[in-house]
Amino acid sequence: MSGELLDLVRELRRRVVEDPDAFNASAPAKARLSSRRVELPEAETASRAISTHPGVSRDLKRQIFQKLADEVAACQKCPLGKHRLKAVFGVGSPDAQVMFIGEGPGYEEDHRGEPFVGKSGQLLDKILESIGLSRQTVYIANIVKCHPMKENDPELRGNDRPPTPDEIAACKPYLDRQIEVIAPKVIVTLGATPAKVLVAPGVSITAIRGQWREYSPAAGKTIKLLPTYHPAALLRNPDLKRDVWTDMKNLKKELES
Ligand code: SF4
Ligand code: URA
Repeated sequence: MSGELLDLVRELRRRVVEDPDAFNASAPAKARLSSRRVELPEAETASRAISTHPGVSRDLKRQIFQKLADEVAACQKCPLGKHRLKAVFGVGSPDAQVMFIGEGPGYEEDHRGEPFVGKSGQLLDKILESIGLSRQTVYIANIVKCHPMKENDPELRGNDRPPTPDEIAACKPYLDRQIEVIAPKVIVTLGATPAKVLVAPGVSITAIRGQWREYSPAAGKTIKLLPTYHPAALLRNPDLKRDVWTDMKNLKKELES
């Protein structure tokens, strides 16, 4: 975490510990927060406690996200940073109940700095709409934030490739922070790559799609996870739409429960 982000986290911690009311926390949460007055945990740990608390204001989450997005925009932790046009942090509401996670930006996303804005994205928008969601009400992000290219030329079309294990390892802490801050009720993974990264390296998406799993972005936290197909797979094979529709109905049920 950058020094600036740590400062922000310390400030947020101070405000919550001293004035839990400011964050509209529930009564038991306020009691818990007040009783922590004397132990001042490590800033990072504190930021987790604060940022994932259901009573934390939207504003605070937005501030933390802004700092993280600034870090990502300048990131050179893996070779993808060198040739990207724009890092693609994510889009949607920091208060979302559900996060959709794809693989990585493609040509369009690299040019626009937003996830899922090409053909797959248009289909994803329709899928969301079918269960009353939108890209503004959910949160959409990718396993890696920069465009994995076969050749290092962002102006080439058809130049996408999956991210390598090293690229994924370098970028994953950003995604884990996003998941922790949003603390969604459900994560939906789109396609093989995010399923392998967030469920288990050896899984086959056809074997596990539609089965509820769990993901833990940090010790002691588990979030329900539903693997489904990537919209690009539906564009190639429309027969898969039926399964995704089943998954979206199950997602809706879970979100309403
Ligand atoms: Fe940094 Fe992730 Fe981009 Fe690699 S892909 S440069 S780790 S933001
Ligand atoms: N495919 C992905 O996995 N992510 C995007 O952002 C766009 C296409």
